[in-house]
Amino acid sequence: MDLFEYQARDIFEKHGVPVLAAAIATTADEAERAATDIGGKVVVKAQVKVGGRGKAGGVKLAENPQDAREKAGAILGMDIKGHTVRTVMIAAAAPIEAEYYLSILLDRSNRTFLVMASVSGGMDIEEVARTTPEKLAKIPVSAVDGISLAKAKEIVAAAAFPADVADQVVQVLLKLWDVFQGEDATLVEVNPLVKTNDGKIIALDGKVTLDENADFRQPDHQGLVDQDAENPLEAAAKEKGLNYVKLDGQVGIIGNGAGLVMSTLDVVAYAGEKHGGVLPANFLDIGGGASAQIMADGLSIILGDADVKSVFVNVFGGITACDAVASGIVQALELLGPKATKPIVVRLDGNNVVEGRAILAKAAHPLVEQADTMDGAANRAAELAAK
Ligand code: GDP
Ligand code: MN
Repeated sequence: MDLFEYQARDIFEKHGVPVLAAAIATTADEAERAATDIGGKVVVKAQVKVGGRGKAGGVKLAENPQDAREKAGAILGMDIKGHTVRTVMIAAAAPIEAEYYLSILLDRSNRTFLVMASVSGGMDIEEVARTTPEKLAKIPVSAVDGISLAKAKEIVAAAAFPADVADQVVQVLLKLWDVFQGEDATLVEVNPLVKTNDGKIIALDGKVTLDENADFRQPDHQGLVDQDAENPLEAAAKEKGLNYVKLDGQVGIIGNGAGLVMSTLDVVAYAGEKHGGVLPANFLDIGGGASAQIMADGLSIILGDADVKSVFVNVFGGITACDAVASGIVQALELLGPKATKPIVVRLDGNNVVEGRAILAKAAHPLVEQADTMDGAANRAAELAAK
């Protein structure tokens, strides 16, 4: 999960990374009040999860609260690379003498962490990396050792930070490592890290990506989710503990096991070509133990998607046998009652398939059709969706 700058700033503050006073605002009025509270010159900054806000006109200096009000009025509602600005951050303005760059990230290809550091920070770090790569120090950091004092000194020396700020940058690096490790981040980036004209080092911008795999031990991170941006069906599925991803097509998919669901998506997309380009509407893996409740939860999420025209339930019975899954489907349809409105093609195979098919046949639900093969079921589901 990517964070907004103001969320990154708050996390920085919590871990002792030097930042400036700031507040968020969603109206020009609030912006003026925030600027009054902070006092003096402020910067008004668009809060969108995309880089290059400065160049897009989303970062503006304001001389006083009235000016902050006008700048916020202009930035709120602005479109920056397809992201609408709904919130601005009002921050104390820093008198900048130099702009540096620091980041810590997960380097997947080298199976390690990596620190990147440069004294040529600011808005054009990508340009620096391309044209003068020697100005961007890249130092691997072992996951076991992390950034020790010695490692931080090594990084600061490699990037050739000036002597008058070296000690401060070392301390900031240690704190940023604290953020990276303590918050289970995969990216912590500060651009620019500035030296003010009185010689202080401050993080003026922050980009943080959190590893959602660590959510179980980071209860506070739940509060950082951007409710406005979340797909409501995905949010509902997450609440029920389902592995669901919304896609653009018309055939709802339920399967057990990620591999089976992935191949079901392919088979449906292929079959859909013969039916006017019908495509899968979602990924949904109900996992090994397909109880009636899980099946009902899954079906209700999928049936709640207005784009879905038909549903394909593709289950290979293993430890949870086909008869248990079939009973789950029958009970799920009872639970859903009139909320079940779309045709459902079921393909069962594997453990206890004969018993499973018999249970569905006996229930004879008007919406349910059975198919013997995966290809046949995909074709029928695509055909129903195309109607
Ligand atoms: P980005 O363009 O999305 O990365 O947004 P930044 O927060 O990095 O801001 C872009 C640029 O605005 C920075 O590189 C600075 O040059 C400038 N800027 C941001 N905050 C301040 C500030 O407090 N004072 C001054 N003078 N400039 C600032
Ligand atoms: Mn920046």
